[in-house]
Amino acid sequence: MNILISHCFLGEPCRYDGCSRLDRQVIELHRAGHNLVPVCPEVLGGLDTPRAPAELQPDGRVINEDGEDVTEAYLAGARKALEIARENGCTLAVLKARSPSCGSGEIYDGTFTHTLVPGWGVTAKLLREEGILVMDEENLDSHLFESQV
Ligand code: SF4
Repeated sequence: MNILISHCFLGEPCRYDGCSRLDRQVIELHRAGHNLVPVCPEVLGGLDTPRAPAELQPDGRVINEDGEDVTEAYLAGARKALEIARENGCTLAVLKARSPSCGSGEIYDGTFTHTLVPGWGVTAKLLREEGILVMDEENLDSHLFESQV
C-alpha cells in the first residue's frame, strides 16, 4: 500500500526547530512492505527550516510566534501534499500528531501555551476532506504491520 508519511518521521530534519522525529513504528511500516511517500507540507509550502513555530488560530489562520501570518504557505503546502498523495495513489496518510500542518484530531490552540484542543492541522484537514484516511503515529492500526509481501 502507498502511504503518505510526514517526512520528519523518516529522519528528515524538516521540523520548525531543524530536528526530525524519527519514528521506529513508521519505519516498521516500510519493513511490512508498504511504500512510504514522504511529504513535509511546511517545506512544500516554501517555509525555511528552521522557522518560527506556528499554531492554528480559532479563525483558521496560521500565525507564527513572531506574529506573522503564514496561512498561505500552510495552504500551499497542503495542496502540494494532496497532489503528491493523488499522484502516488495514497488512500492513507500517517502524519505527525499535534502539528499545525499534520496533526489529526488534536492540535495546539493558537496561544503558544502548550494547550491542546480538538482540531485538524491544515494538511490533515484537506487530505481528510478529499477522502484520504488520516491517522497519526499514536493510533496506527495494527493490521498495517501485517506483512504485505
Ligand atoms: Fe513533520 Fe509535518 Fe512538521 Fe513537516 S509539517 S516537520 S512533516 S510535522
